[in-house]
Amino acid sequence: MAYSIIDTHAHAYDRRFSDEALAMKERAKAAGLCAVCLPNVDEESLEPLLSLHQSDPAFFPAMLGLHPCSVGSNPQEQLEQLWSMAKGKAPWIAVGEIGLDLYWDKSQLKQQQEALAWQINQAKQMELPICLHTREAHQETVDLIKSEKRPEKGGVFHCFTGTVEEAKQVLDLGFYLGIGGVLTFKNSQLKAVLKHVGVEHLVLETDSPYLAPVPHRGKRNEPAYTALVLEFLAESLGISREKLAETTTRNAQHLFHLDLNPA
Ligand SMILES: [Zn+2]
Repeated sequence: MAYSIIDTHAHAYDRRFSDEALAMKERAKAAGLCAVCLPNVDEESLEPLLSLHQSDPAFFPAMLGLHPCSVGSNPQEQLEQLWSMAKGKAPWIAVGEIGLDLYWDKSQLKQQQEALAWQINQAKQMELPICLHTREAHQETVDLIKSEKRPEKGGVFHCFTGTVEEAKQVLDLGFYLGIGGVLTFKNSQLKAVLKHVGVEHLVLETDSPYLAPVPHRGKRNEPAYTALVLEFLAESLGISREKLAETTTRNAQHLFHLDLNPA
């Protein structure tokens, strides 16, 4: 393989992979992946996440976080419980995925904000970057990060699909943009937006098993498809795959302080 790439966001522990986790990993390696980062969702995802992480800690680095759509009525208690379940279980690379999601239910904004603020403060204490999920809540998320004072270790807006203006806000925070399969969708504006953003601000991801890139759109996504995102992005930016792979891998290593297996 001419390059080495990192999937910075994959729910590879999802039960949709459970009967073929090894094959999924082999396909990822064959596609040039040197690491697949695992974002946590809630109390239930923690155990499958940890078991995949422990099968190969360097290849499957783990994050700890509570997804905005999993925030309940008492965020503080829920988060303390999740953190105590997770304590000492892995060398966490980030707090994630965390954020605000107003797509499904706007009535939970207050609880989501409370959970996000709590987790940003944990990230600061743990000296970790954050992995953000925002949906129809970009401005609210940026405002909250600013009000809590930006975590020193930075972070990434995972599955970024915003405007040039929104991309600029992310760069102003010193955060990265996570680019995945949405880029390959026919009517996506992202291709045009990314022409205004330097590759030094980008990391690759799949968000497996969701958001599969073309030509697998609508089917189960998997870490190996990071290579399709790389190909599509390299072509739309007019740079070589090797150059883009090198830059985005360096960005991901810098963001998450990854300790990679020698290839
Ligand atoms: Zn995710």
